[in-house]
Amino acid sequence: MGMSMIDSYERNINYLRVSVTDRCNLRCTYCMPKEGLSQIGHDDILRYEEIHRIVLVAAGLGITKVRITGGEPLVRKGVTDFVASLRTIPELEDISLTTNGILLESCAEKLFAAGMRRINISLDSLNAGKYARITRGGEIRSVLRGIRKVRETGFSPIKINIVAIKGVNDDEILDFARLTLENPYQIRFIELMPLGHAGIQNNGLYLSNDVVRERIEAFGRLEPVNGRRRSSDGPAQICRLAGGVGEIGFISPVSHHFCSTCNRLRLTADGHLRSCLLSDSEADLKG
Ligand code: SAM
Ligand code: SF4
Repeated sequence: MGMSMIDSYERNINYLRVSVTDRCNLRCTYCMPKEGLSQIGHDDILRYEEIHRIVLVAAGLGITKVRITGGEPLVRKGVTDFVASLRTIPELEDISLTTNGILLESCAEKLFAAGMRRINISLDSLNAGKYARITRGGEIRSVLRGIRKVRETGFSPIKINIVAIKGVNDDEILDFARLTLENPYQIRFIELMPLGHAGIQNNGLYLSNDVVRERIEAFGRLEPVNGRRRSSDGPAQICRLAGGVGEIGFISPVSHHFCSTCNRLRLTADGHLRSCLLSDSEADLKG
């Protein structure tokens, strides 16, 4: 058996989220200012070899799961080869990706060939106009083509993340839930967090997952999925609409804190290690 990292709260830290870039091809209103972020300079971004070295050390200390994220990870050149390079680390049981899906259609087969099987796609509306407004110009058809492609390619599970935004997409909760009746997706409702560059704009737009859940339950019976939590579910509570093939997940960082079960570390694109989203303390690994 390998090493484990047990912290002072007796949490087993086995999950590392790796941001490969701070850049993004969208500007979601709740995440980024419309002009984008002041970007990290080319020399400050970790090279893939440097990230690989950090993941290798982390795997030796007890990390078994890695998620590639950003910014938008698929905008960084060479990301599929990087994923393939992580497959050579034997301690890693699970390598996954979170993407906005815009570039997914063209990358799906390469990611699959690189050994990736699990993918999370962010999609906050099923309506083209509204999607473009939330993302400030995103083209929903690209994302839908990406989702179709990962399904055809054989990815599983395919998780679709929706940040519920009061007065913006909360009229689509049932449309998203209904998708699980006939499609093998895990539709995950995420509570809007008062974070980052758009933190203040997010005031008043928060919607509790208790409300999301009530609205779905008024439509159909929600059954908990197999009682026992699967380690791949992370902090999500997973249910199924009676008779549905897919699943519905609720990730509720605001209404139901899950700090006591948090098992993750984050590596920023410029090589800082963070243990908590809500804290600024970090360790400079690049230096
Ligand atoms: N660009 C990729 C994407 O959108 O999937 C990966 C990075 S993005 C920061 C990861 C996830 O965080 C997305 O599902 C996004 O919707 C979510 N997110 C961003 N800001 C958030 C906030 N303030 N509250 C809750 N979720 C947020
Ligand atoms: Fe980009 Fe993802 Fe943030 Fe949207 S949520 S702006 S896609 S990083």
